[in-house]
Order: sequence, then structure tokens, then C-alpha cells
Amino acid sequence: MMARSAEPTLSREGPAFVIAQIARLAFEVTAGADPVAIRGAGICSPGPLDTTEGIALGIPTLAGFDDYPLHRSLADALNMPVVLENDGICAAIGEWRMGAAKGHDNVVYVTVSTGIGGGVIADGRVLRGRRGMAGHVGHMCLVMDGEPCPCGARGCFEAYASGTALARRARAALGSTADASSVFEEAARGNSLAMDLVREEARYLGQGFASLLHLYNPDILVLGGGLSNRFDMLRDGILAEIRQTAMPAFRDTPVVKAALGGESGLIGAASLVFDQHVDEFS
Ligand SMILES: [Zn+2]
Repeated sequence: MMARSAEPTLSREGPAFVIAQIARLAFEVTAGADPVAIRGAGICSPGPLDTTEGIALGIPTLAGFDDYPLHRSLADALNMPVVLENDGICAAIGEWRMGAAKGHDNVVYVTVSTGIGGGVIADGRVLRGRRGMAGHVGHMCLVMDGEPCPCGARGCFEAYASGTALARRARAALGSTADASSVFEEAARGNSLAMDLVREEARYLGQGFASLLHLYNPDILVLGGGLSNRFDMLRDGILAEIRQTAMPAFRDTPVVKAALGGESGLIGAASLVFDQHVDEFS
């Protein structure tokens, strides 16, 4: 059975409200399904999360999710086994198991939208790291003492290559109403300032990706998130930057667009429910 239900997270209302919202949507979408057939719930959540303990450690975009027992609250509210995973890792798993990276043992997934997140598959398994927090690729440093990042540090990959960073440069170059999508629209119309912004964005992405190739040596690097919708305009610039920056042996690594679009994370989270270890979490 395939069904879908969604609504905006009422993120300012606090954890109890948001959990109740998730539970209501889950019950709506599974109404009429055979309860025995429901194996559990795969939850894809923004981080940072300690997925070994099931604790939200301070999610910047969600009020009150500081040291919050997210796994236990969800399992109580949904009354079923729950698997909780960071959204970047979920999306990496989705693309690895069913999307653009299917069949590869070494995958780096990077989502570029408002921020930058990611996940890594290494030697055929999900890289989770200490407390399950591996793959926060948006916060590797690109520029020492550089632009401020929402994480509190300066010069992060996210502070230069996210959609938010592109919008900041767009406002400075094109005017106060410009945003990330207007940059691509103007560039497609031949606006040279906008074309420069697209080239610059591709260079920042290529710089970050080159570091990720050196670190994780993937068979394939998958780009997801809002900016991947403009991959056709960014691709050549990204590959040119990688050819300039990466060591020769890394330069031919394929860089591709995510195949599952906005569904990568949901599909990855759902697939985790069918893994054998689900009972450990229930
Ligand atoms: Zn940062």
C-alpha cells in the first residue's frame, strides 16, 4: 500500500505538539490498513540526534527539542516499533538502496537546500560514527574566519554553498528581491551577473565535493536537495572545479543528481524498518 499525508511542522509549538501532529498523520495514513502488516515507523528527523540513545540533541529549527527523548516519545505516541535516523543519513540510505547510488558500496550523499547535510555509505555499510552523528558534511570548514554559519562557527561549506548563501550573494549582486531560484532563472535568460553567480556556486560545491572525495573515496557522489533541481546548470562547473582541486586519481568520480528527489529521506527511513535490527529499537 502506498499512501501519503503531510502538513507543515508547527515547529514553534514544542515537542508534545509536534509528536501529536506526527501521530495524527500516521494514524490518518494507515487507517484501513491491516495492523498486523504494519512493521513499524521509520522516522527521518533533522539533527543533531544521538541515534544510539534516541535523543534529539538540540535541533536548531525545532523549538524545545533539546536533550529530548525523541525515540521514546514517538514509540509511545505511535504504539509501534520506531527506527530513528538523521535526515541526511536517511536520504543517503534511500539513494543507496533504491536510487542513484544503487549497487555501489561507497557513496557520499549531499543535500543542498536551505542548509547542507549528508550521509556516507562506506564499504557497503552506513557510516554512523560516535552517537550516530557522522556525515554532517555542511560543517566542514571551507574558509578560515569566513562567513558565519547557522551552526555558530564560521567559514563552513554550508555558509558558502547552501541555497541560503547563494541567495545572500544574489541579493548583493542582483537586488534585494533576488533569491536562489531567481539566480537560475536569470542565468537561463542570459543575465551575465546571474551566470557569474551560478559559476561561483558551482565552484563552492566543487570545492566541498573535492574534499569529500578525498575523505571518503566514494564510487559515486549524489547531489540532492533543492539545488539539485538545477544540476543541469551546475554540473559542468562542479566537475571543472573537482578536476582543478582534487588529486588526479579522484577526478573521475561520478557526480550525479539524486534519483528519488524529495523522497530520498522517506524511502531510506522506511527501508530501515525492514532491517533485522529493528527489534533492538522497539
Ligand atoms: Zn557550520
